[in-house]
Amino acid sequence: MIYFQSLTKTDLAELLLPLSRVKEERALRDMPDGDDKEAFRAKVDKKKLKQSQMRAQQIFHWVYQRYVVEWDLMTDLAKDLREWLKENVKIFRLEESYAKQSLDGTFKFLWKLHDAKTIESVIIPAALREKIGDEVIDTLEDGKRYSGIETNSAGLNQDLTEDSWARLTACISSQVGCAMACKFCLTGVQGLDRSLEVHEVVTQVHELRMRAPITNIVFMGMGEPLHNVKNIIKACQIMLDEDGMNFSKRKVTVSTSGLVPAIEELYQHTDVSLAISLNSSTDEQRSAIMPVNKKWPIAELLNACRKVPLGAHRRITFEYVLLKDFNDTAEDAHRVAKMLKGIPSKVNLIPFNEHSGSEFKRPSDQTVLDFQNVLVKHGYTATVRISRGRDILAACGQLRSLFGTARGTEKHKDYVGSSAVTNTTN
Ligand code: SF4
Repeated sequence: MIYFQSLTKTDLAELLLPLSRVKEERALRDMPDGDDKEAFRAKVDKKKLKQSQMRAQQIFHWVYQRYVVEWDLMTDLAKDLREWLKENVKIFRLEESYAKQSLDGTFKFLWKLHDAKTIESVIIPAALREKIGDEVIDTLEDGKRYSGIETNSAGLNQDLTEDSWARLTACISSQVGCAMACKFCLTGVQGLDRSLEVHEVVTQVHELRMRAPITNIVFMGMGEPLHNVKNIIKACQIMLDEDGMNFSKRKVTVSTSGLVPAIEELYQHTDVSLAISLNSSTDEQRSAIMPVNKKWPIAELLNACRKVPLGAHRRITFEYVLLKDFNDTAEDAHRVAKMLKGIPSKVNLIPFNEHSGSEFKRPSDQTVLDFQNVLVKHGYTATVRISRGRDILAACGQLRSLFGTARGTEKHKDYVGSSAVTNTTN
């Protein structure tokens, strides 16, 4: 059985091609061999291909735009096609183990996979949208606007399904665990269990879209997306397909800890947005917290960034987790400003979210502001990420699998049972 969500529209059209029938086929059979027959055959083949492409488009609309997940309900498909689909292609669903909402509106979902592994996805509302008179006002998030939100009996807050948020970002996982072992990240402590298949990645977004009008996707959940680059490329193609999920390339962001060759591979096949988990101003510092830097040091990483075909008005986001007394000085900020020179970039500062398994501490608010000011004075857009969902361990660096590896489970068993998974920085 093939999973529907593992197929791009082109894959699906190819799969359906042998089922295409056109009335000219009988005439072709009766024609004598010769040049005319070959030319006619080419025309018939073209017509059959067009038919299978049209059917693939129809099916994509049914599943990704009308959220229909049963073949029998796709009433404009021929009955024999529906029967064939029922026997050969399965529309995958993720099993929701639980959904939990933070006081700030962030919603975390734990999904159970076929092999009993679990992954998390998070919905992060960005700002409250209100209509005052004829004006639509987006209130900047301040952490207080969202308090007091109650979940309904279905477990999903009604506000997520209404047009009341300026942005609803889906933060999704690319692997069960992660092999990159970044020292500040709970997922890194867990180690890698396995990479997700294309349908497991795509279906996280599909399930969330069935529950809320998602506007943005970030690959910042569990795992290093570029360690699973082939599957992520295909998933992105489905998300960007105008007959599929129809996301703009600006609204889908792949975040990486710095797998240099895979950055190039990604951009050979898709042009989603890129975020780099930088977190340091020197190689020595970076290698101490991100082992990936020993293989691909900062200079190589930034060279790869310079080669990304960004296009007009697009920038690479550099994420920088601020760790108290480690990488948070004004000198660090000056060095970051210098190293990013010439790269269209913005910097997203993330004050560390403390967790019991980490030696690192969160810097003071003043230190964060001072760091930001240095970057702004150098002419960069530098934002401070207000971490969302900290009360349900859905914030950056706090995600991990509920049923982690022995390594992770032993070391952080205080998390198991209270919450699960991700939302890391890459
Ligand atoms: S920050 Fe990202 S790359 Fe690093 S260990 Fe965590 S999930 Fe993996």
